Amino acid sequence: MEYNPGQEWYKRLHWQVFIAMLLGVGIGLTPAGGPFADYFGWVGTLFMRLLKMIIVPLVITSIIAGVASAGGGRVVGRMFGKTLTYYMASSFLAALTGLILFNIFNPGRGYPVTDTGAAAPDLDTPESLIDLIYTLVPTNFFDAASQGDMLMIIFFCIVFGVAVATLPEGPRTKVTDLVDALFKAMMTLTSGIIKLLPIGVFGLMLTLVGATGLKAFGNLAQYVAALGSGLAIHFFITLPLLLYFWGRVSPWKHAMNMREPLLVAFSTSSSAATLPVTLKTVREKVGVSDRVSSFTLPMGATVNMDGTAVMECVGALFIAQALGADIGFVTQVVVVFTALLASIGAAAVPSAGLVVIFIILGAIGIGDNPEAMLIVAAMLSIDRPLDMARTAVNVYSDSCAAAVVGKWEGEEGIDEEIRT
Ligand code: ASP
Repeated sequence: MEYNPGQEWYKRLHWQVFIAMLLGVGIGLTPAGGPFADYFGWVGTLFMRLLKMIIVPLVITSIIAGVASAGGGRVVGRMFGKTLTYYMASSFLAALTGLILFNIFNPGRGYPVTDTGAAAPDLDTPESLIDLIYTLVPTNFFDAASQGDMLMIIFFCIVFGVAVATLPEGPRTKVTDLVDALFKAMMTLTSGIIKLLPIGVFGLMLTLVGATGLKAFGNLAQYVAALGSGLAIHFFITLPLLLYFWGRVSPWKHAMNMREPLLVAFSTSSSAATLPVTLKTVREKVGVSDRVSSFTLPMGATVNMDGTAVMECVGALFIAQALGADIGFVTQVVVVFTALLASIGAAAVPSAGLVVIFIILGAIGIGDNPEAMLIVAAMLSIDRPLDMARTAVNVYSDSCAAAVVGKWEGEEGIDEEIRT
């Protein structure tokens, strides 16, 4: 992963990962795919465990080190404001894209469920979502850490980091030196695990394709088309425009520098599992400082999920339409905003997006509808490839945020060249 321009192509990690992915798919599709997956699928699972093993300590040390070194509450407050501005704007645009695509494709129209004679549900407006705020503040930090509850961990680490930054120099350097050293150790461990990427990705793809084949794509084609176009528009148009106009960063160079994390996001379907790779790449290849990347990326992996926001919007409206509900303007507005919240609340793990879709269904009053459950189950059966794509969009939006906030903080050298 280190910047090494003279290296042969086959020694570069992203090529190795890509070839491993093709090999996994190729072998998975052969008749021997199933048995092969049974024998070697564990490699992918083991790799996922290794990635997950490092997430909590990496995030804790990375945020405390990042915030504490940011130089006091005012600087952190300023960065927080900038980061949040970007995250809210990009997620909102994502949900809006989902809404537009839904209205173009109308994927739920004529869905078989509407022929069963069941009465079409009346949609409601939402109740208070104050609980979402409670999910930020842990009553017991160690409990949150042991549960891997990222929002709570992040909240605690940010306020702890601010507290450290305001200490007098003596105790402050004691804490920051220790946390910095721990953080460096975690990054070293991360680099070691990242070297195993090709093997892990091979195992993951083999299991996926060997177990289910590609037939899952047959159904729900309209939903897939609407969601796929939404994700593509966000990835290829909206985010590059944000990068260019907000950060004055070349979208092409940024995309090229981000190849590895994008492939990892695609093959793991988990922004959290990808975070170690994202952190390393954004520092070493994109060229964002430790201070900004430690602040923006762990938070982004947890709360900034643009791909998921597109999916929540298209998915929830698809379900409502399939049930024959009348989808008016107010409902659409409600769906866009709750899709935003649901994407914030979604855990950065595979298929988490489909779990939190019930936040939106609840908000529009079809959360308990048994037919809705059936449609979610059908969506789940084809979710993996969609999850892979939206996770890549989620991770990409985080790295764009790091680049934009880095630029806003006056940093030089961000994406000035393609670093392979
Ligand atoms: N898998 C996604 C992620 O980790 C979340 C989702 O299911 O939308 O980013």
